[in-house]
Amino acid sequence: MTIDLSSPLAAILPDPLASLTAQPADALLGLIALHRADPRPGKIDLGVGVFRDDSGRTPVMHSVKAAEARLIDTQDSKSYLGAEGDVAYTEALAAVVFGGHASHDRLTGVQTPGGTGALRLGAELLARANRAARVWIGTPTWPNHGPIFAEAGLETRSHRFFDPITASIDFAAMIEDLAEARAGDVLLLHGCCHNPTGVSFSRDQWRALADLCAARGLIPFVDLAYQGLGDGLTDDAAATRMIFDALPTALLAYSCDKNFGLYRDRVGALWVQSSSAATAGSVRSNVLTLARSLWSMPPDHGAALVRIILEDETLRAQWEAELNVMRARINGLRQALAAADSRLSTIAAQRGMFAMLPLSTNAIATLREDHGIYMAPNGRINIAGLHTETVPTFVQALLPHLDAAEEAR
Ligand code: PMP
Repeated sequence: MTIDLSSPLAAILPDPLASLTAQPADALLGLIALHRADPRPGKIDLGVGVFRDDSGRTPVMHSVKAAEARLIDTQDSKSYLGAEGDVAYTEALAAVVFGGHASHDRLTGVQTPGGTGALRLGAELLARANRAARVWIGTPTWPNHGPIFAEAGLETRSHRFFDPITASIDFAAMIEDLAEARAGDVLLLHGCCHNPTGVSFSRDQWRALADLCAARGLIPFVDLAYQGLGDGLTDDAAATRMIFDALPTALLAYSCDKNFGLYRDRVGALWVQSSSAATAGSVRSNVLTLARSLWSMPPDHGAALVRIILEDETLRAQWEAELNVMRARINGLRQALAAADSRLSTIAAQRGMFAMLPLSTNAIATLREDHGIYMAPNGRINIAGLHTETVPTFVQALLPHLDAAEEAR
């Protein structure tokens, strides 16, 4: 049936969707289009948060390609799996994430569409358990964090933790802000490789945060999206493991999209630890019903690849070796940036793909227009977008703006 929009009826009936207001376009996606349209050969893309190799590509990992070939050869059905996704995937991944701390009856995990799906599913669970819970999120953070919790109906609160002038942690400010947190509130924590700042809490600060959660009845929700890209698989999971050991109730949103290079295949998992096995049972049933209404079942392909890699000794060793090369590349570039100018020295000790530069909106625009250097509007750079050969060009273009930023203070 076609509707005649010129009919008198169409004219009097209000458009039920007219109440929607247009939303701003995603700034980072806009940057991709601008970068693509830039004809300058020396342009440098530090915007989008994907790993890049020495030749500027984001390749499919060899271990993933091999697993893909095996999957195509052996997969004999694409029938539905279920809301929990691939159970063997979640189990194999739990060993990577939690190590020996993985298997107990208070911990329940399900496959999700990426880390984003895990965060949203966790947010929905928390909202269902307690609508009054507020979610404390450090500023700055990954821009999707706030909307994910807000769309699930939870109030979000910001706390300080980062000093942009020294590009380091301001723990006293964080503790001061968290004094307002109430029992039952949620504390969102980046497990490693903070996006966008690259800074990490010390072991003592993590311990203090665990103590704070325990003393005040806060629920830690760890977001671990870059395991293996900071200091290695075990070190990058240390804070998560400590939090899960220290507290009866904790959540973890995990992404395999960076450390397996599976971005568009959307591979993640949510784990929820409860204070008792009985609660864990009802948590699981709630997680599954929520997942069912959100996406019914997660996409299988990427998770099947992760399972194949983790279950096969050779593929697993190959994946770890590839991950080591990625990490070494990022950390090597961090060293090169830090060595180029003392004002960038903090970048060496930071971890993960990102760092935040104290640049004005004007400086960010000038770097793009005059030098073809693209970065996120908040001054976040993707370190992996650099190359040892482009570091000097980048730093040379950057320094006058760092000088100006210093003068403005
Ligand atoms: N958390 C953080 C901190 C991230 O940076 C990202 C991805 N940019 C995610 C979660 C979501 O990852 P995914 O692409 O797997 O949804």
